[in-house]
Amino acid sequence: MNIAERLSRLGTENAFEVLAEVNKLKADGRDIISFAIGEPDFDTPQNIKTACIQAIEQNYTHYGPSAGILPLREAIADYVSKTRGIPVSPNEVVVTPGGKPIIYYTIHALVNPGDEVIYPNPGFPIYESVIKFVGGIPVPAPLLEEKDFSFDTKHLQTLITPKTKLIILNSPQNPTGGMLSDDDLKAIAELAVKHDLWVLSDEIYSRILYSGKFTSISSLPDMKERTIILDGFSKTYAMTGWRLGYGVMNTQLAAQITRLETNCESCTNTFIQYGGIEALTGPQDFVDAMVAEFRTRRDLIVAGLNSIKGFSCKNPNGAFYVFPNVTEACKNLGFKNSKELQQHILYNGDVAVLPRTAFGARNQGETEEYLRLSYATSRENIINGLAKIKKVIEG
Ligand code: PLP
Repeated sequence: MNIAERLSRLGTENAFEVLAEVNKLKADGRDIISFAIGEPDFDTPQNIKTACIQAIEQNYTHYGPSAGILPLREAIADYVSKTRGIPVSPNEVVVTPGGKPIIYYTIHALVNPGDEVIYPNPGFPIYESVIKFVGGIPVPAPLLEEKDFSFDTKHLQTLITPKTKLIILNSPQNPTGGMLSDDDLKAIAELAVKHDLWVLSDEIYSRILYSGKFTSISSLPDMKERTIILDGFSKTYAMTGWRLGYGVMNTQLAAQITRLETNCESCTNTFIQYGGIEALTGPQDFVDAMVAEFRTRRDLIVAGLNSIKGFSCKNPNGAFYVFPNVTEACKNLGFKNSKELQQHILYNGDVAVLPRTAFGARNQGETEEYLRLSYATSRENIINGLAKIKKVIEG
């Protein structure tokens, strides 16, 4: 096919390949339990749906400002000010269709060909994909199991060169559920200030936290001006299909990101944004109940995985993912890597999980094998799915 050369540099989310395989098996009549999907299995709360329906009835069905309607940007500015402890004005907010466009736009706005971008590995695959797409140089920073899937900040420091432009952080993290400690955030902030770097802080899971308080790197000294916060409604309010997210950044960058949005989408769907205002300003008990349920499921899945021979699983503090180490299980069963183990579990056990390599190539010297399981599924599925995995692993 005669398409532009640049598309050869664009990656994708490999998770979708597994989802396609699962759908094919289901169509063949197989009863598959899936731990592959990264979205809450809850329905969007009724008050949010009602606000959106009312907005349609009131004919909020026209184009709106590219950066988002003012009452939503005000609600977001207020929410981010309170949750991150920083002053935010509506001019520093850009509303987008989902949180994902903030990754795409930020990298397009900041990274020249040849610029280096440091990003977490394993990590959300879109970071590496878009860095390569713009001609940037992806520099993976390993997340270490022995550090509860945080960075070794001393090693991170060695990755910075005069060409480094941007560091991408994600905490709580997909796919490990890990978090960056306050000490790590402080060390990274000092590096960013010292080397004059931008930081894209992907905080999409900031409300899905099981203990302690969320800290945003943007609240550390001299960080607000150089940080782009990515957040949104998909995970917190079970609104993945609505496509509603936002970025918070300094006003000059916000103007540039808005210009990209004008070129691409014109604006985010207008009546959806009214649902977003209700989500942020209405009752929050839904979020608390959902997170309490995720906590129970996390305990269930971590205990279950640790009872499987050759599996060893940390107890993550956020998001709804676990990232068990399956090196021993691969060895015991004679599999070369977690991809072979994932295929065995899918085809012989009827359970869908994702291999480590769905989240980036192995780091240099990385010898361990991992799987990712999302526990955004019922307790019943967790119990039955783990029993099936145990059976195909232990025989
Ligand atoms: N960032 C991370 C780390 C994610 O896991 C996801 C979704 O899976 C996103 C961003 C994108 O979220 P949205 O659905 O709001 O675009």
